[in-house]
Order: sequence, then C-alpha cells, then structure tokens
Amino acid sequence: MAGKMPREIAPGVFWIGDCLAQRHKGKIYHGYNAAYLIAGETASCLVETGHPKDFPVIERHMGELFARGVPPLKYLFVTHQETPHCGGLGRVLKTFPDTLLCGDVSDYHLAFPQYEHRMRWMREGDEIDLGGRSLMAVEPVIRDLRTTWWAFETRERVLFPGDGFAYSHYHEDGHCGLLAEEATSLDLPDVSSTFADLALFWTKFADMNAYCDRLDLLIERHGVKTIAPTHGLPITDVKATVPKVQAGLKAAALMPESGTNEKIRLAGAGAAPTAA
Ligand SMILES: [Zn+2]
Ligand SMILES: [Zn+2]
Repeated sequence: MAGKMPREIAPGVFWIGDCLAQRHKGKIYHGYNAAYLIAGETASCLVETGHPKDFPVIERHMGELFARGVPPLKYLFVTHQETPHCGGLGRVLKTFPDTLLCGDVSDYHLAFPQYEHRMRWMREGDEIDLGGRSLMAVEPVIRDLRTTWWAFETRERVLFPGDGFAYSHYHEDGHCGLLAEEATSLDLPDVSSTFADLALFWTKFADMNAYCDRLDLLIERHGVKTIAPTHGLPITDVKATVPKVQAGLKAAALMPESGTNEKIRLAGAGAAPTAA
C-alpha cells in the first residue's frame, strides 16, 4: 500500500509511488510505475517520474523525504520516453527550478522548449555526482526504446533497470510495498512472463538466452546488490531472485503473443472495428 512508502530499499535510496491495478485473464494484477529518490551528501536525484495518477502521491513522498533532511533535488534521470517513466518531467522541472534532466534527452525539448537549457545528455559510463555516491548510465540490456538507458548507483550498488525486471504482484496476498523476496507467494516466472507478453513484444522475436547472459554480465561487472525496477518489486537478493525473472523472460519468448489488454474485434466483413 502507499502507506508503506517511501520505503528505504538501500541506505539513502527510497522507493516512492503507488500500485496500479490491471485486469488480465480474469484476475486483478497490481503493478508499479515507481520512482526512486537517491539521497547523496550534497544533492538528490529522482529516477523516473511515476504514472500521472501517482503525481500527487510522489510529490507528497518527496516532500516527506525533504522534510526529513534529504538534500535538495538537483537531478532527474528518466530511463526512457514513455509516460509511466517520464510523463511528469515537465512538472518536476517546474516545481524544482534547480533540477537538471539527465539521460538520453532526445526530443524532450520539443515538448518543453522552455527547459531545453536544463537537459543534459548522458552516455554509457557518464556519472552524476551526488556527494559520496554517484549515478552512472549503464547498458540498458532489456530496452523498450532506442533511447533507453539504465542507471547504476555506485556506493550501495543499486541498479535502476526501467522496464527490466518488470512484473506484477498480487494485491490479495498483501504484496503491495514488499520486496520481491518478501512476497513469498508471488510466482515470479509467471508474472514476469505475463508482463513480457503484454508490454515487451520484441521478446517474442529475440533469443532471450543471449539477453539473460548479458544481464548476468552487467550484474557481475558492477557487483549489483539491489535492483530497483520501475514496474516490479525491488530485488535485494540478486543471486536468488534474478534467475526466476530470467526464467519468465525465456518462457514468454517461447509462447505466441497474446496481444494487449484492449482487444479489437471485427463485427463483420466491411464493418468498422469496435472496442470490445
Ligand atoms: Zn515501462
Ligand atoms: Zn499493489
């Protein structure tokens, strides 16, 4: 529940936001469109902006953290140009006039020309200094768009993989606000494969073994200790949990695509399509 947020998932790394309910195959799945606040010694960085329905919740959570002494927001990092990830960037830049937008900043100036001078490009290996810790752009192994970047926090070794490690959780089982390892009844391979089926269609046409090997390499190279996905529950036991998510990605790749939630049916020959 939102009541558990903000939740500190690693020292100075706060999980903020709220769940979103989605219906699929007669069940209600909960997902996150989370944001994370990283507190350095001199500056804070917000990773992702949350889903539009969560903007007031995220603003409240950030306010609570600043009231607790978290340093001012100087940076906003967004993994890619989709609404649940970057939809609030205009709001954030307006509310925090000293904040710079970082990442792949292609096209954002078209929507927000007034903030173009506050947009900073990052490429792999580039780092944002927060005082005692930094946030680095790293290889986006599971990417949604050409412009996707993942981020890695260097002191506590937290990976922010955007649409990677995306899976829903069971509200009925009380999983909301839990870490992946605490949600013991969550079938991780199943929810990971469902999410890939609905949101990452390209995984049907790719060799996911190669992507999973690449994920292992990234985790090993950086010594990742915690994974802070935008849609999934945070992972704090990388060794035990990552293989379960990978099993889901590999299983989904072998099943035909079932399409999106919104099914379009043709009423008859020549008839206009109607939403069912
Ligand atoms: Zn996403
Ligand atoms: Zn939930």
